[in-house]
Amino acid sequence: MTDLHRLSIREISEGLAAAKFSSRELTEHYLKRIAKIDPQVGSYVTVTNDVALAQADAADALRQAGQATALTGVPVAHKDIFCTQGIKTTAGSKMLDNFISPYDATVVAQGKNAGLVTLGKVNMDEFAMGSTSESSFYGATKNPWALDHVPGGSSGGSAAVVAADLAPFATGTDTGGSIRQPASFCGLTGLKPTYGRVSRYGIIAYASSLDQAGPMARSAEDCAYLMNVMAGHDAKDSTSVDKAVEDYVANLNATTLKGLRIGIPKQYFNVAGLDAAVKARVEESLKKLEELGAVLVEIDLNMTESYVPTYYLIAPAEASSNLSRYDGVRYGYRAENPQDILDLYKRSRSEGFGAEVQRRILIGTYALSAGYYDAYYVKAQKVRRLIQQDFLKAFEQVDVIAAPTAPTTAYKIGASLDPVEMYLGDIYTIAVNLAGLPAISAPVGFDQDHLPVGLQLIGNYWSESQLLSVVHQYQQATDWHTQRAAIAEENA
Ligand code: GLN
Repeated sequence: MTDLHRLSIREISEGLAAAKFSSRELTEHYLKRIAKIDPQVGSYVTVTNDVALAQADAADALRQAGQATALTGVPVAHKDIFCTQGIKTTAGSKMLDNFISPYDATVVAQGKNAGLVTLGKVNMDEFAMGSTSESSFYGATKNPWALDHVPGGSSGGSAAVVAADLAPFATGTDTGGSIRQPASFCGLTGLKPTYGRVSRYGIIAYASSLDQAGPMARSAEDCAYLMNVMAGHDAKDSTSVDKAVEDYVANLNATTLKGLRIGIPKQYFNVAGLDAAVKARVEESLKKLEELGAVLVEIDLNMTESYVPTYYLIAPAEASSNLSRYDGVRYGYRAENPQDILDLYKRSRSEGFGAEVQRRILIGTYALSAGYYDAYYVKAQKVRRLIQQDFLKAFEQVDVIAAPTAPTTAYKIGASLDPVEMYLGDIYTIAVNLAGLPAISAPVGFDQDHLPVGLQLIGNYWSESQLLSVVHQYQQATDWHTQRAAIAEENA
């Protein structure tokens, strides 16, 4: 079969079960495509050829022995922020360019237990700080829809591999939109789960109170398969919640759109930088949802203006604390010929971290310093609570909240956005992380340059099953998620 990369996860699962193809054939097919096409896209930091083929053979053997799960032998790509035992784990940074993880992140271990085959590790903004994937030490990943555009970030590699059919699905992490925004820029579906639903153990920390991992794939159905593997309590992560995991695949039709109340926040549609085409596509998708039975309800989210300043205090503050561990001593980059210990720290950190990471460490350290802690960090935490309450009040009126995922479509590579402009582009995604809520982005059409537009649906706590189901219903009635970037059409 030459079109194995066109199959959905369910089709792959059924094909493997019916022995239409083996995991070895499927894995080789993807590895060939990666070798041929990825030089143009730049999405993989590490391709794990040998590991993948060994895992594929093991998966085929398990299947022969009648011990396969639904996903045994299905390939996956992991964002290079998940620790992978024996495999380089870089977080897109020179600081970790030489880091071979001695253990697996829980998400990776769960994937292995389910029989997933690791194709490799994919590119990202350095330490997940950014919205374009350009800040990676390994260079910019390209958007498969238009190679002179960014795929979004920070999980830009995860989005690009799926959009270019270089992996059937991928893991991502979302601290302030890094699953949803690249999904939106690359015409994919991406789910950021409730904080605590997926283990953070073995994920290189950015901002611990905001970080959460989730699936990125073509459809809600494909995401549901990966969510079934990723979700669950983990004793190794003290913020992971001990709550029964739903079967996200079985529940795909559990929510009906009939009578579903979708909140439309007035403030979100009056944001200054909201692109006209994005607004139009989002509004059309809402009309479609209305046709399918949903009820649109105008709501207020009065804290909208506080999102960006609050997030850009809390995230850098936590980052400055988390990144203090990279000192050139225990692991990671070490400056050559240090004069003394202080010189070692200083030069290892200034040579090992890129500009955006250094900017955030400076902002965060400033906000946490003795004289400013109350004025900035404590204040931001109080505003964070108000933002959460604003959402909870809205959920008394509605079931889900709709918004654009991002105010624009993908930026041109090197558009040298100034940092503040880039931060403003996170307006629709970051409040969800501040509140710890789940949210999903799904493709709903294109702008005038044929760049994908995403609709975001925000749910109440633990409603990821409902969000997947709502998007699944929408995707049963539309075909935006089945459209392919030109580069994805190329044969292996
Ligand atoms: N763009 C946001 C930031 O730079 C979000 C990144 C993320 O979710 N990891 O912080």
